[in-house]
Amino acid sequence: MSRLTSLAVHGLNRPEHLAWATTGPGAELLAWALEEGLVGQVGFSSHGANDLIEAALASGRFTFCSLHLHLFDPTRLPLARTALAEGLGVLAISPADKGGRLYDPPAELQADCAPFHPLELAYRFLLDQGISTLSLGAEQPGDLAWAAALAGPSPADRGCGPSSPTGPWLTTAHHSALARLAAAGRTRLGAERCGQCRACLPCPNGVPIPELLRLRNLAVGHGMTAFAGERYNLIGRAGHWWEEANAEACRRCGACLPRCPLALPIPELLADTHRHLAAAPRRRLWG
Ligand code: SF4
Ligand code: SF4
Repeated sequence: MSRLTSLAVHGLNRPEHLAWATTGPGAELLAWALEEGLVGQVGFSSHGANDLIEAALASGRFTFCSLHLHLFDPTRLPLARTALAEGLGVLAISPADKGGRLYDPPAELQADCAPFHPLELAYRFLLDQGISTLSLGAEQPGDLAWAAALAGPSPADRGCGPSSPTGPWLTTAHHSALARLAAAGRTRLGAERCGQCRACLPCPNGVPIPELLRLRNLAVGHGMTAFAGERYNLIGRAGHWWEEANAEACRRCGACLPRCPLALPIPELLADTHRHLAAAPRRRLWG
């Protein structure tokens, strides 16, 4: 009998998806597949809100998860740590592409990460966090070079039996490069840097303030305008896979202002984000 080692329910993005998979018909289907030995384990992927992912992890129905975990978007890392502590496998979705088009980094980013490639730093950062699996999105054999380099010599070349690399993934030199990268971003953004604390939410008009200002942070702070523009222009066009409201939804009501611990001029920063990212994503912006 054929057997799938792992079966992931892809895209538990909304509460109804979670209900389907944990208490609805999906739960019955998955339980049947496990009982029949058709699948070895069941997991999920999610692009949804953190509380939804938390509920999925707490359901006890899954033994692995695939999440957006990135060097430039670490907000779900606490969820990943919870999952890892409970023995679940955790896969980082698309660290190279959705993590910032790191296979094609802008000059500022390359300089800030030197002497390392931004993609290498991103991979090492995630592995250092304990993430058990990285998805590489390889299109051609050469795209696997980073994975091969991180894995080190093959067991045969080492003259020993199978083993898996366990790090340490970050040396002092990597830590220094990460610190320089963060400092460069802070310098370029100055007092306009969004700290991503999410205290400004909820917005009565549904503006995903931290997500939009994160894109601005990337564009202004790290020269990642192409990536930020690509993501910004997908808003409202990807259903439940991505945000549905962009900065134009801000009505300048001011409700978010007293909640921001950095006293950021949020409506102005949102308008600036829209002005610079809503156009052709590959245009050179901010100087
Ligand atoms: S000012 Fe804009 S972003 Fe802030 S709460 Fe009002 S509508 Fe939302
Ligand atoms: S409260 Fe301020 S710093 Fe925190 S996420 Fe919102 S805008 Fe950014």
